Amino acid sequence: MGKSKVLKLFACCVPVKGSARSIIYDLQRRRYFIIPNALYDILQTEMGKTIDEIKGIYSADEHEIFDRYLRFLIDNEIVFECAEDYVHLFPSIDFSWESAFVLENFILDIDEFSNHDFAYIINELSDLNVRVLQLRLFSQIAKKQLDQILRQITGSNIRTVELVMPLSYLEFDSACFVEEFTKISNLIIYGAEEDVIHSHKQANIVYTKAIVRSEKDCGLVEQDLFSCNLKFFCEAQQFNTCLNRKLAIDKHGEIRNCPAMKDSYGNIKSHSLRAVLKKMAELKTNWSICKDKISVCKDCEYRYMCHDCRAFITNPSDKYSQPAKCDYNPYVAKWKGEKGFIPVEDMK
Ligand code: SF4
Repeated sequence: MGKSKVLKLFACCVPVKGSARSIIYDLQRRRYFIIPNALYDILQTEMGKTIDEIKGIYSADEHEIFDRYLRFLIDNEIVFECAEDYVHLFPSIDFSWESAFVLENFILDIDEFSNHDFAYIINELSDLNVRVLQLRLFSQIAKKQLDQILRQITGSNIRTVELVMPLSYLEFDSACFVEEFTKISNLIIYGAEEDVIHSHKQANIVYTKAIVRSEKDCGLVEQDLFSCNLKFFCEAQQFNTCLNRKLAIDKHGEIRNCPAMKDSYGNIKSHSLRAVLKKMAELKTNWSICKDKISVCKDCEYRYMCHDCRAFITNPSDKYSQPAKCDYNPYVAKWKGEKGFIPVEDMK
């Protein structure tokens, strides 16, 4: 009896149901499979049974489609047959999320009019052990000044830097640059003639045709930007995938959750980041706006791989409304431009 083989989902493969279709997130191999909701229901209710037992539930004319589902699931290593006695040896993954960092992400925006005291700000960030600092240059600053900022970061507790900068420095050698500044994990150079990505040493070097001239050039929702992985999935269960454990200083020195959000918690010239973090209950509320609380997104199968945006939303008076730059309608499972697409607002 206990020796019969039952179907079991690999623990890293998680089905997520949307309004019109579902997705299997393969969190270990960082890939995903779009499936019909009928297959989602099978995965939810029939695991732990033998193939014959499951087939017995369906009428003979449904067996062909079940066989096709089964082939797909086994070929892609989404399910496996497991001796019933050994099922307990394959426990589920704990999807709770914790972080040792007070701030996981920090954005520092700079344009030609910014008057930041970089030494002071980097000391503050070092004191807070910020994990990732994103430096965004909306315009060119003197190369000497940029080098000085990066040298100070090198000697700080900030773990890694993502540098977003224009393609404007003459004779700039990106490979030498990331070799010199070893905390750079991502170097994103915008305004390039073509999109090119390569790795060098510790860094990804990205040349992009996109233009990043202000904090408004953010908040895009595109399939290319989705993150199907365990860390992101776990965080998305309870927290906002953009704002959680994030703080920013905008180009004017205002401290915000994100530079594009309207609420300021004071200017860095007169407020310490630690003091802001202590006082801001509202900030923590933003951090907890997970996708399951957001209109439309809560019905979307992409919700645990999609980077949220609270700065640009469809209804600015409702902080739980859908990201305004999203062109996906989960109720018809279509992206804008696809045949059959209808804007979500036209369905109300
Ligand atoms: S509906 Fe929400 S979760 Fe789905 S793609 Fe758009 S923004 Fe992402």
